[in-house]
Amino acid sequence: MKPSLLKRGLLIAASSMLWSSSLVVQVRAAETVSAPATGTPVKLVLQITIDQLRGDLPRVFKERFGPGGFRYLMDKGVFYNNAHYMHADTETGPGHATLVTGAQPGQHGIIGGDWWDESTKRIVYSVEDNNYKVFSEHVDTEVGKTQGGRAPTNLESTTFGDELFIASEETAKIFAVSGKDRSAIIPGGRAGKAFWLEHGKFVTSSYYFKELPSWLVAWNNQKIAENYRDKSWDLLQPKSSYWRKDRDDMSWEGGYKHLGRTMPKKLAAADDESYYRGLEHTVVGDELVLAFTKDLIQREKLGRGSSVDYLSVSFSSTDLVGHTWGVGSLEAEDNILRVDRNLADLFAYVDKSVGLEKTLIVLSADHGVADVTEYVQQLGFPALRVDPQALPKEVNDALKKQYSTDLDLVQTFTYPYIYLNLDTVSKLNLNIEEVEHAAATVAMKFPGIYFAATRGDIMTGRVPALPFMQRVTNTFHPRRSGNVHVVANQHALLMHYPWNLKTGMHGSVWTYDTYVPIFIVAPGVVPKVCSRPVGPQDIAPTISTFIGIKPPSGSVGIPLAEVVDSPKDSK
Ligand SMILES: [Zn+2]
Repeated sequence: MKPSLLKRGLLIAASSMLWSSSLVVQVRAAETVSAPATGTPVKLVLQITIDQLRGDLPRVFKERFGPGGFRYLMDKGVFYNNAHYMHADTETGPGHATLVTGAQPGQHGIIGGDWWDESTKRIVYSVEDNNYKVFSEHVDTEVGKTQGGRAPTNLESTTFGDELFIASEETAKIFAVSGKDRSAIIPGGRAGKAFWLEHGKFVTSSYYFKELPSWLVAWNNQKIAENYRDKSWDLLQPKSSYWRKDRDDMSWEGGYKHLGRTMPKKLAAADDESYYRGLEHTVVGDELVLAFTKDLIQREKLGRGSSVDYLSVSFSSTDLVGHTWGVGSLEAEDNILRVDRNLADLFAYVDKSVGLEKTLIVLSADHGVADVTEYVQQLGFPALRVDPQALPKEVNDALKKQYSTDLDLVQTFTYPYIYLNLDTVSKLNLNIEEVEHAAATVAMKFPGIYFAATRGDIMTGRVPALPFMQRVTNTFHPRRSGNVHVVANQHALLMHYPWNLKTGMHGSVWTYDTYVPIFIVAPGVVPKVCSRPVGPQDIAPTISTFIGIKPPSGSVGIPLAEVVDSPKDSK
């Protein structure tokens, strides 16, 4: 690494000591460079993401929260209660990328959890890079993930953390922690260091470290995850106080292996794989992330140096609880109370180690979530689960018939895109746009499908003036998007197999999936509730403007006036 300007400044200052008149000037210059954030009192930017925290939930549970967590954010910050993603694939990867880049998927490149890569003829995972091995003896077998290395290579925009690192002359410390790899790697950007949970331990990859830092090894050697083997997940408060106390055992609820449908849940499992994955399906996942994060703040002395530091913490338990038991479950009710308690714990720790008055906190979510399909059916809505294997098969069969060929014309369905087999299209000398239209026509007749937009039409702007089409076009990436973007009906659950079998799901263009809360607390910012329409793409340009650095390279968001136009700037 290049010597920082700060060090260079001090060297010059030291060498000029013989000429005392220049000493003062040089030292002042060094001080200016060491705090390039234009006089902001902020020492730490803490970006918290609660995976799957839909925008209504903080308000719904407001009276149930204790002091110091969500209530701290509500009392001290700006609460945007009408924030929506403006992209179509409302999943974890695209959401986190938008949160930290201010870009839409078309600019940050993370169009989904995974996508078809035509150049290598395979599905790639959003944060895979086989040049950088994961320091772990364990191979994660979660569905949808490819094995192999991990790095932020597929991210095309800089992040807020990257920009802070550059603006600070490489003095800012940038870290990202999460239960999920992509929720740490994406916020970590290129300049940061990312840690995520695998098998009860925090891991990282050779992209970040040549060898594991000793403090990381020491943390893992505490084996904190083992402490839960004889414990249960029980309700935090008396059962009589829960709204859903009589709805703990609903027929549509899933259950991760040993964890079952009802509370309490014994955490012990028959084998280690089930035990560790089981922990991540409960509030324990968040507790491990919290414990690790506090240790990281301490060991790296975050917020206590000369520059502004950045820490991203993404809590994943809400997502896994929502997928497994549903957002309306007793489990989800208990989970959000525990999220609140964990936030209060984290804020108290940050107050002690950095000072909340010197901390900019932004909290949001990577996506919302739909109410469970079978529950919505009970209410009389035509909700359904679309078979993600039958849809591409029907399209492929119809195309083969139409073009009188035995060759497959559909390559794959990787939500939300149908990818055509370009080799077959070329071999048969077909017009690609015609085949795309033929595929879209078949897809739109499939039960549960609302609309299908072709690549050709998206690229040339020939899309209908439907309100959600901007979300479809914002998701479009020239190299990564497929030939047909499929949009399911409201309450129709379409996801790649076997994700559509999970009890609760997100990923659509509809408001239950795009709706997230945004809280921003920062020195000088006047607390208020703001209901004008904004989006998570506004966060990175807002905090960039507040700190006084340039926004990330792909940013298209608009700085939020309630934060950047605060009285602090009208001095
Ligand atoms: Zn999810």
